[in-house]
Amino acid sequence: MSASSPRSHVIVIGSGMAGLGAARVLHDAGLRVTVIEARDRIGGRTHTSHLWPDLPMDMGASWIHGTKGNPVTALAKAQGLTITPTSYKRAISFDQDGHPFDFGKAVKRALTLVDAARKRFYDADADLSVQAAVEASPAWQAIPPRDRAALRLAINTRIEHEYSGDWSLLSAWNFDQDKDFPGKEAVVTPGFGAILSDLAKGLDLHLGEPVTAIAPAGAGVSVTTARGTHTADAAIVTLPLGVLQSGQVRFDEALGKRRQRAIDALGMGLLNKCVLRFDRVFWPQDVDWIDYVNPVETLWGDWTSYLRATGQPLLAAFNAARMAETVEAWDDATTAASALEALRAMYGGSVPDPVGYQITRWRRDPFALGSYSFKAVGSSRKDHKALFGPDWDGRLWFAGEATSTNYPATVHGALMTGRQVADAMLLSAIRDQP
Ligand SMILES: Cc1cc2nc3c(=O)[nH]c(=O)nc-3n(C[C@H](O)[C@H](O)[C@H](O)COP(=O)(O)OP(=O)(O)OC[C@H]3O[C@@H](n4cnc5c(N)ncnc54)[C@H](O)[C@@H]3O)c2cc1C
Repeated sequence: MSASSPRSHVIVIGSGMAGLGAARVLHDAGLRVTVIEARDRIGGRTHTSHLWPDLPMDMGASWIHGTKGNPVTALAKAQGLTITPTSYKRAISFDQDGHPFDFGKAVKRALTLVDAARKRFYDADADLSVQAAVEASPAWQAIPPRDRAALRLAINTRIEHEYSGDWSLLSAWNFDQDKDFPGKEAVVTPGFGAILSDLAKGLDLHLGEPVTAIAPAGAGVSVTTARGTHTADAAIVTLPLGVLQSGQVRFDEALGKRRQRAIDALGMGLLNKCVLRFDRVFWPQDVDWIDYVNPVETLWGDWTSYLRATGQPLLAAFNAARMAETVEAWDDATTAASALEALRAMYGGSVPDPVGYQITRWRRDPFALGSYSFKAVGSSRKDHKALFGPDWDGRLWFAGEATSTNYPATVHGALMTGRQVADAMLLSAIRDQP
């Protein structure tokens, strides 16, 4: 921060985990903080829907990935949220004909094959996609088409869902360069919303005010929104990568070259949910995951049961990457009917109609323009690193999931970058003091 007074004024753009994480630290340190948010709600891609008043649903993030040492676990516990571990060991899988089969074996085989396939290209002159590396592999070519469909689903559920990029876009060299917290994968109920509300307590929040331009102004910055112009000593940008890439927020002075390269090089992927609520349970009560080798490649291939976490007959179906882009174009009724068709292929014609459903379309959401960042061909963790931190001589700072070197695409990654930027700003303010 260029201004050195502890009463400095900072604008935080975006009220997701990163923005609120940063704003909380700065506010609690005594700075004047203004949070400007385009939506009429806080939370960004952690969004707890209250469409069903008796059953709040997380339509963005819903898992804590690795509960041990994860800062989100501490926040969830502080809010008295229930943390329910889920496991791939509690799974049931169906083949193309709707018969149970050993998907775990297919997953192991697929991941081993992907590893071997990408290793063949480590010394190549240029990066290539996961798909290109896999399809060039003699081992892949030798697999009969029926088995290949199960392996393709394994690549979809274990790689495309986790990283949200299509295998034709994911970097074979670098797609998985992230770190993990140890511990379990766990669903948070009744939802992440309580954490966000707590972080936002007492903050000066401007909701429903999309930022359109950011400019240097004297020793500080000016932020133009749909409602007017705000000035401050510094601003923190937590805009999703998709929004940065779209150019819908104008930066009146060029960003650092390395930062701009990172914005252009990284990918913004897609993961969508279709949550179906039933009046009864027709699947095994103890499973967390249901996988299905749909004859239509990867469509409705991955389901999670929220029964253990919520006590309600609730299933969420996921589509990622290319299939998610296709399904996003469908209307709600078509989407729900298609998901139901997949369920009936697994559990038979007696599967009841759902009593309700909720569907996400994160690519079409103008304030997300995708679900989370991934390492596209030619990019690496260095691009996440280059995106993080100060620009414009310390007047503009960047945080958010895509700026996390170690934990991109996660709630904790977003939170940690927000807090780190705030800490760095406070440190630089102390250093600047005469
Ligand atoms: C479907 C889905 C499932 C996920 N599952 C998980 C999971 O299980 N576990 C996990 O750890 N992570 C998960 N994630 C990822 C996680 O949700 C994100 O990494 C994290 O929430 C991003 O936080 P952020 O603060 O960086 O960005 P955001 O939450 O997107 O915050 C940015 C804010 O900027 C606002 N904004 C955008 N444009 C403007 C503008 N012009 N002016 C002002 N404000 C603007 C947005 O409205 C938003 O509030 C999931 C994401 C999705 C979409």
